[in-house]
Amino acid sequence: MAFSIAIDGPAASGKGTIARALADHFGFAHLDTGLLYRAVGARTLNGVDALEAAQTLVAEDLESDELRTPAVAQAASRVATIPEVRSALVDFQRAFARRDGGAVLDGRDIGTVICPDAEVKLFVVADDEVRAQRRFDELVKKGMDVTRQDVLSDIRQRDARDSERAAAPMTAAGDAHVLDTTQMNISQAVEEAIKIVAEIRARR
Ligand code: C5P
Repeated sequence: MAFSIAIDGPAASGKGTIARALADHFGFAHLDTGLLYRAVGARTLNGVDALEAAQTLVAEDLESDELRTPAVAQAASRVATIPEVRSALVDFQRAFARRDGGAVLDGRDIGTVICPDAEVKLFVVADDEVRAQRRFDELVKKGMDVTRQDVLSDIRQRDARDSERAAAPMTAAGDAHVLDTTQMNISQAVEEAIKIVAEIRARR
C-alpha cells in the first residue's frame, strides 16, 4: 500500500535526518530530492546545460561525495529556479512517492507540488544560526575546509532564493505540521516526527 510522507523546510533544518529516521522506523523508502537538484547543479558546473542535465540524470549521478559541497548547493539552488528543470524531475519523484510499501521524500516543494495528497506533511524549521552551526559541524566532520560564516551566508542566500522564486517556492503546505527544531536535539526531533506520523497512521 502507498503511504507518502512529505518533508520540507529550509537548508540544514534537520529534515534529511528526520526523513531517514522515519524511513528506518516505518520501513519506508527514502528519497532526498535535494540530491536531484544537486546532481543537476554539479553537471552545470562542468559545463552541461541545466535542462539537458535534468533530462538525462541517471542514478549514479546521485552518488558522488562532491554533491555535498557548498558550491554544488549554490548551483543546485540556481538550477532549481528554472521551471523546465523542475518539470523534468516531477514524474520520477511522484512515482517514488506512490511506490508500494511507503515512501518518505524530503525537499522544498514536496507537500505543495510533488505530493499535495501526501498522508503526512511536515515542515521542519530552525533558527538560521543554529542550522549553520549544525551544517558547519557536519561539513568539518567530512573534512571540508569551510568557515561557519560561509556556511551561514550559503544557507541565507539559498533560503532567500528558494522561497522567493516563482516556480514551486519553498513554503509550508496549509495542512503541514510545522516542527521547530531550534531547541531540540536530533533524537527529540525524530521522536516528535515519529509521534506525528504514528498518530496519523493509527487513524487510517
Ligand atoms: O535539500 P538540499 O539543501 O540538498 O537542496 C539543495 C537545493 O536544491 C536547495 O537549496 C533548493 O534550491 C533545491 N531543491 C528544490 N526542491 C526540492 C529539493 C531541493 O528546489 N524539492
